[in-house]
Amino acid sequence: MGKELKLDSAPEGERKFADELGDEEMTIIKMRWAILLALFGTWAGSARAQTPPQSPTYLKCGWLLDGKSDQPQKDVIIAIDGEKIQSIGAASSRTPASQIIDLSRETCLPGLIDTHTHILLQGDITAADYDEQLLKQSPEYRTILATVNARRALMFGFTTIRDLETEGAGYADADVKKAINNGVIPGPRMQVATRAMDVTGAYPLQGYAPNVTVPHGVQIVDGAEDGRKAVREQISHGADWIKVYSDRSYSVRPDGVLDDIPTFTIDELKAIVDEAHREHHKVASHAMALHGVHNSVVAGVDSVEHGNYIADDDLKTMASQGIFYVPTIFVGDYVAQGRAAAGAPVWLKMVSIHEDTFRRALKAGVKIAFGTDAGGFDWKIDPAKEFAYMVKFGMTPAQAIRAATSSAAELLDMQDKVGTVANGKFADIVAVPGDPLKDVTVLEQVDFVMKGGVVYKKP
Ligand SMILES: [Zn+2]
Repeated sequence: MGKELKLDSAPEGERKFADELGDEEMTIIKMRWAILLALFGTWAGSARAQTPPQSPTYLKCGWLLDGKSDQPQKDVIIAIDGEKIQSIGAASSRTPASQIIDLSRETCLPGLIDTHTHILLQGDITAADYDEQLLKQSPEYRTILATVNARRALMFGFTTIRDLETEGAGYADADVKKAINNGVIPGPRMQVATRAMDVTGAYPLQGYAPNVTVPHGVQIVDGAEDGRKAVREQISHGADWIKVYSDRSYSVRPDGVLDDIPTFTIDELKAIVDEAHREHHKVASHAMALHGVHNSVVAGVDSVEHGNYIADDDLKTMASQGIFYVPTIFVGDYVAQGRAAAGAPVWLKMVSIHEDTFRRALKAGVKIAFGTDAGGFDWKIDPAKEFAYMVKFGMTPAQAIRAATSSAAELLDMQDKVGTVANGKFADIVAVPGDPLKDVTVLEQVDFVMKGGVVYKKP
């Protein structure tokens, strides 16, 4: 055949050639059109789905965990008007049946919040995995993959994420966020950190010949003034958060403390934090061990990421100053074997050190927000696996759920908009077929997702 059909001219073309073509060829053309129309219909349908329905929708929930109280409510009707929650109450005979979504066998919860993701990353167990992505994939291709990851996050039930840097893909996270907000692609609400910062010689790609120029997974920053400039630059290009890497090169001391090499000096960190705060932005600090965490806390960052080891004194300061702990437990276990096999056995020991720290943080009353480092592991894996680890390390299921809803919303300063099911908040609601207070792993089976009053997944 060799005739290419184009969306805008094909019907005419099809008629023009109809006389010359046999029945078989016509059938093929019709099939191709049916496929094109079906694809277009799906696309148009999903684009339309970005607009919430005009008349109220009612969710009939068997149980509701509202994100605030640890006590579930039974048989609840949530009325949704546009993108907001209008009211929450008991079922009434006046509720029009045609507008009810029946979730009477489900537990409804606020949309989940993952406060540590990397949508521009496709899993990097070893340094080689990471280098491959930065060396062989263009930022444009990585952005296409990121749009798929954003959709995956939403379908897993994460209606809000804080994406903590693009790992060498520039400001692509700000564009993915824009595309979601403009209804171009489905995805969670996003806060983004853009490029992140680290000092010379501390962040991959590393180990190449000095005369070979390679990309880096961060913006390289040396000196306090350089730090302030980078903060200004990143904020001007859309950063909601400033992300710093505060330590590297981990080892376990004989007394069991996880040691590290701090990256920034205290002066550099303080300048970055001061500049970010001056511009009303918060700072997230990757800090896995003794000095990195200590320096971050002294500099006044807003969240400590990973925190495999945190000294008791620093936990005390975190609790008193309201600095959040985002532990990302699952990813540590996920990469441990692979990194040990690649020559870094310290990662195997870090898991038990992490458990001890997590238990001490709970006791010290540190605010803990749910974060997974998704992207550090494959996006096909449900980030909700983190819940089981938090419970294994000492949280109740209710505490773990609050970490991923109301507490996470507080870290993001979005507590007036998301994180609880309450009147006037965004209708970001998910549901699971079971009782997550009895078995928290049921959160890995989210089968209903609504974001801003729009249904993306139904049981
Ligand atoms: Zn991370």
